[in-house]
Amino acid sequence: MELRQLGNTGLKLSSVGFGASPLGNVFGTVSDEQAIASVRLAFQSGINFFDTSPYYGGTLSEKVLGKALKALGVPRNEYFVSTKCGRYKEEGFDFSADRVTRSVEESLERLQLDYVDILQCHDIEFGSLDQIVNETLPALQKLKEAGKTRFIGITGLPLGIFTYVLDRVPPGTVDVILSYCHYCINDSTLEDIIPYLKSKGVGIINASPLAMGLLTESGPPEWHPASPELKSACQAAANHCKEKGKNISKLAMQYSLLNKEITTVLVGMKSVEQVEENVAATRELAASGIDEEALSEVEAILKPVKNQSWPSGIQQS
Ligand code: NAD
Repeated sequence: MELRQLGNTGLKLSSVGFGASPLGNVFGTVSDEQAIASVRLAFQSGINFFDTSPYYGGTLSEKVLGKALKALGVPRNEYFVSTKCGRYKEEGFDFSADRVTRSVEESLERLQLDYVDILQCHDIEFGSLDQIVNETLPALQKLKEAGKTRFIGITGLPLGIFTYVLDRVPPGTVDVILSYCHYCINDSTLEDIIPYLKSKGVGIINASPLAMGLLTESGPPEWHPASPELKSACQAAANHCKEKGKNISKLAMQYSLLNKEITTVLVGMKSVEQVEENVAATRELAASGIDEEALSEVEAILKPVKNQSWPSGIQQS
């Protein structure tokens, strides 16, 4: 598995990261045994980056990931873990210094770890971005100094949140951004801010290469926020691939991996089979490149909905 530098952090992450939201039963029920086997196979296949949040499954994802990482029985410095703060299933959003400081302690306990590699403010468009700049990030800085996290990140959907925050904090305050659903076959708008992020030395995590299930044969979960038009275009693209004996998820993984400016492509996985498929897609890409014909056919089907997103967050004043 290829390793790529994460901005200025010095971390070398595998080009595919393990998204652990499915371990919180976000995409259907996953047994502990299945979760542990999936994490083990991912690690054995060269995946060294695991991402979770207290929000996923109301803390379940963190607990299950912690169990699975412990079961690996390997030294702590052989894998990297990111979790998040500020978004909770029961409480909603709270980016106050007090809450995020307690949050990391709770996460570490659930993960059975002494520190995380990255602590990210989760979906900041739902809070006040000025609070993130003036209160949350300084609190995270203290947690970094205390050794609870090695690096600090921010996550969310609208790309403007990243430039808003990064324009207002001293260099080195935010080490990493996590963007989702903006670098997959149907939406590549993350590309527009890559030069800006690189100029700031910020590492780039691209989550949801399968557009949270839109680019899969079985389709997205019930809660997926895409418009009916976007859902049906993706369904048509998946069907087209299937009819030609091809798999849309493989193509989607490979599409996201092609951009080497992105450090890691974070895909949610809930079974050994999915780990096998995504690792195989990565190896095949390295060996023989992407299926250009299938990609251009899928791009043509998705053209009417290209870069269509959905609203997320509160209006900033
Ligand atoms: P995704 O695009 O990675 O899709 C995940 C879905 O695809 C799941 O249903 C999974 O079971 C399925 N899948 C995985 N591999 C497959 C394959 N080979 N064939 C068919 N189906 C397959 O979306 P995601 O899980 O939402 O995103 C990945 C990760 O990124 C999350 O788990 C989370 O860790 C992170 N993330 C973070 C944020 C945020 O911070 N705001 C938002 C989205 C995602």
